[in-house]
Amino acid sequence: MNNDLNTDLPNPDLASSDLPVPAASAPLYSPARVRELLTLHGLRPTKSLGQNFLIDGNILRAIAEAGGAGPGVPVLEIGPGLGVLTREVAARGSVVTALEKDERLRPVLADTLAGTGVTVIWGDALDFDYASLPAGTRVIANLPYYITGILLSRFMQAAHIVSATVLVQKEVAQRLAAKPGQDAYGFLSALAALYGTVKHVRDVPKGAFLPAPDVTSSVVRLDFDRTRPLPDPALVSFIDAALHHRRKTLRNNLRLIGHEAAAIDAAIAGANLRADVRAEDVALDDLQGVARSLGVVR
Ligand code: SAM
Repeated sequence: MNNDLNTDLPNPDLASSDLPVPAASAPLYSPARVRELLTLHGLRPTKSLGQNFLIDGNILRAIAEAGGAGPGVPVLEIGPGLGVLTREVAARGSVVTALEKDERLRPVLADTLAGTGVTVIWGDALDFDYASLPAGTRVIANLPYYITGILLSRFMQAAHIVSATVLVQKEVAQRLAAKPGQDAYGFLSALAALYGTVKHVRDVPKGAFLPAPDVTSSVVRLDFDRTRPLPDPALVSFIDAALHHRRKTLRNNLRLIGHEAAAIDAAIAGANLRADVRAEDVALDDLQGVARSLGVVR
């Protein structure tokens, strides 16, 4: 195995003087084992693929626990990497499907997931058909941060996925969990509320990863209420536009997408909101009311 594909700078955490480390008896997620695996397979983590591997057993147990991994539960993992979280989830009896883009990891996962029954699908998570998953699927993953937003929106739209327990940048976790009027409130917060609820599970320090990322991370759990009909895409686009300049007035934002001033004023008044209410202060129900008044949705 070579690492010709790797264009990243050498990682100081993986300096060759540190290697190899005899680590056979250490747990798979230990820094020594992770370094050993990478060296053995001639790999270096690739920054452009968001490869920050978990090296903290408490954190990966906490993710599996919070994510509802258990006997017979169908679990989808995006980016198994070296397989440490995958093994933890599979050990709890879940039926795991893992999607991995980096083909260099084939021999690693063949080794670390041997005998676990995990199905690995090689390819890009952005191309995967999430509608093909079994009903009741739970996502449990340390997500590649560069595609967090788009993946979360794919999970929300897949009716068979009931929850997503994911490691994301702390700032994204704050945005997901924010309520109207709070600093971090915006489109992502509204989108999550449209589909269900968000729970902050725990923060995760940079030192829990190898290599350490630039930012603090958090584990969040999103529960999707599948008794609700899937939202009309026109409503989702409307909410996106309404919160585009979230500190500006709702009126301004709606003018920018071409609604008539008089119709906007009537819709805002009809929702019992102040004429100059700021977009970020409007509750989701009220925003939906305004969308209905404007004829965006029925
Ligand atoms: N689960 C491992 C862990 O916690 O140690 C690795 C997590 S690492 C943050 C992200 C993983 O996602 C890497 O294995 C990376 O190769 C994979 N990945 C990145 N982009 C991907 C994509 N578009 N589709 C599927 N996997 C991807």
